Amino acid sequence: MKPPPFHYAAPTSVAEAVALLAAHADDEARVLAGGQSLVPLMNFRLAQPSHLIDLRRIAELTGIRTEGDTLVIGAMARQSAAEHAPEVALFAPLLAEALGFVAHPPIRNSGTVGGSIAHADPAAELPAVALALDAELVIVGPQGSRTVAAADFFLGPFTTAIGAGELLTEVRIPRRAGGHAFVEFARTHGTFAVVGVAAVIELDGDTVSRAAIALSGVAATPVRATAAERVLVGATAGDAAAAADAAAAELAPAGDVHGSTETRTDIARSYLRRGIELALQRAQDQR
Ligand SMILES: Cc1cc2nc3c(=O)[nH]c(=O)nc-3n(C[C@H](O)[C@H](O)[C@H](O)COP(=O)(O)OP(=O)(O)OC[C@H]3O[C@@H](n4cnc5c(N)ncnc54)[C@H](O)[C@@H]3O)c2cc1C
Repeated sequence: MKPPPFHYAAPTSVAEAVALLAAHADDEARVLAGGQSLVPLMNFRLAQPSHLIDLRRIAELTGIRTEGDTLVIGAMARQSAAEHAPEVALFAPLLAEALGFVAHPPIRNSGTVGGSIAHADPAAELPAVALALDAELVIVGPQGSRTVAAADFFLGPFTTAIGAGELLTEVRIPRRAGGHAFVEFARTHGTFAVVGVAAVIELDGDTVSRAAIALSGVAATPVRATAAERVLVGATAGDAAAAADAAAAELAPAGDVHGSTETRTDIARSYLRRGIELALQRAQDQR
């Protein structure tokens, strides 16, 4: 399979990339990151951009750093770089753990953190992690820069708040205390998960003071398990089973070849419980 012909540009700055997007506003212009999702789509002719703007030469988009209590990941940071970065291990171990479930190492060596979030596959790990960690997404376009909370970023399957002529430049993640867990059910390791659970739980003594839990694979976008969070916060030691039941009762995932609505809901309940138990255990171990 080969894509139809397209024009190619490889800018070296964000400003240049934005100018190129503006210059081709009337054409079908797309940015290329790691190419691990876009190139297969082009090869199958499910995406047919007339202009491809390759971000891989833009050095300013590749850094991973900390600013006070915030972890800042450039959109073009490779998934493998984030997986092994000491800053990520310290500030957002949930992200490092989740990255281990994304495809296989060769794909993570090319795929980018920003590319996965911008692609917004409802089954992908990183959008759910961004939601659980209250990440902020920095978007740059012809009007300048704006920051969108993860809760407002994912609008539908493969649809985000990134507008025409804009690109994602940074993922900003506040440092969180507490225990974390990323668990998922996939047919085989490295394939897209049927259901994924990202959890961060903070304890104050024996009481849960904060819980942030997000799911992938159960809706058109990643979703917060707010019912589970409500059950957990304020409870002593936290009842993982009751929290998982409460969250599962609010789910209505679409059935597909991987499972019916009921099967997906049962898997979600089971993996919610596992994720919550593991995050609670790790929070307790930290005391
Ligand atoms: C065999 C295989 C298995 C995979 N398994 C998984 C898996 O288990 N879990 C998972 O989450 N992913 C999986 N992936 C996808 C992989 O994680 C991709 O790397 C990721 O989805 C896209 O990142 P990318 O950098 O390759 O983006 P690209 O493929 O280059 O781009 C994807 C889309 O995002 C847009 N985009 C990219 N960067 C930006 C930006 N900075 N601003 C605005 N728009 C942007 C592009 O225009 C394009 O529409 C798999 C891929 C393959 C080939």
